Amino acid sequence: MKSRIESLKSQALTALKAAKSEAEVRDLEVKYLGRNGAFNEIMKSLKDLSDDEKRTVGKLANETKSELETAILKKYSELEMAAFDVIAEKEWIDVTVPGVKPSVGHRHLISKFIDDLEVVFGRMGFAVAEGPDIEQEHYNFNQLNMPEDHPSRDMQDTFWVKNLKRVALRSQTSPVQIRYMEAHEPPVRIISMGKTFRRDNDATHSPMFHQIEGLMVDTDISIANLKAVLTHFLQQVFEDPSIKTRFRTSYFPFVEPGMEVDCTCPICHGEGKLSDGVPCKLCKQCGWLEIGGAGMVHPKVLENVGYDSKKYTGFAFGFGIDRMIMIKYRINHLRLFFENDLRFITQF
Ligand SMILES: [Zn+2]
Repeated sequence: MKSRIESLKSQALTALKAAKSEAEVRDLEVKYLGRNGAFNEIMKSLKDLSDDEKRTVGKLANETKSELETAILKKYSELEMAAFDVIAEKEWIDVTVPGVKPSVGHRHLISKFIDDLEVVFGRMGFAVAEGPDIEQEHYNFNQLNMPEDHPSRDMQDTFWVKNLKRVALRSQTSPVQIRYMEAHEPPVRIISMGKTFRRDNDATHSPMFHQIEGLMVDTDISIANLKAVLTHFLQQVFEDPSIKTRFRTSYFPFVEPGMEVDCTCPICHGEGKLSDGVPCKLCKQCGWLEIGGAGMVHPKVLENVGYDSKKYTGFAFGFGIDRMIMIKYRINHLRLFFENDLRFITQF
């Protein structure tokens, strides 16, 4: 029996030495020390021995078993250390190498520009008002002095919503003025910015574009206030304090008088040519850029929302946000705003 134990021990130790993986060690553990393993068999057979033999053989068996247990644990830890060595060799990191900056996205140029506009007008005391992109005819036209069959409706080729009566994608941000005035008493000082929709599509017109709308209503509001606000606004937006504005009479149904607003070209500063004498392409050498529409709020519009048009006057303006961005950053096609080409987007 003793020699059986000795031979099991040397077998086990040899096999253990040769083992190359944790799985092999585990197999050996089961084979020798498991419930049905070799040593348990020996323990079971002790009962057939004399008391004397039981004592000596039992003791030897127990000692050998614990010796093997220790050897197995040692082997496990050796294998583990070896595995760490492999990892350390394969996956070592040189902490002195400069890191690679993870690329992080950022807000779109248009969204950032809209934030800038909010700041510029916020400083002048204008609050931001919002309205829905899908608008009722009532707000988009009727209340803005453009009743049904009014010829001015043809000025804007509108997307009407199919199967919904008198609902359209808003063709301007002006309906927000109406919604705001219906809910608030004067004085009013708001801007509204957002998407507008018309059936247009070329280099400078897109079926979806962004507008900023402004409205100021109070007692004694005049064109002088309008000019001051717009001039300051354009100087801030184009970061050019030399910018001047001029008004040309025009027609919009919801203002009287109505005006086109021009500003001096921020590229050539109204000179029509650059400092080195090269003709300015942006303003086609005229020194002025058409930038939007404005006017004094039509008394009818004020009356439509229940304001006393004898007591209150106001101005309103609507500018294309995309166009201002194109001018400021000299972008030549609207398409670039919407294609999401990273080569373009990451420049801003
Ligand atoms: Zn110019």
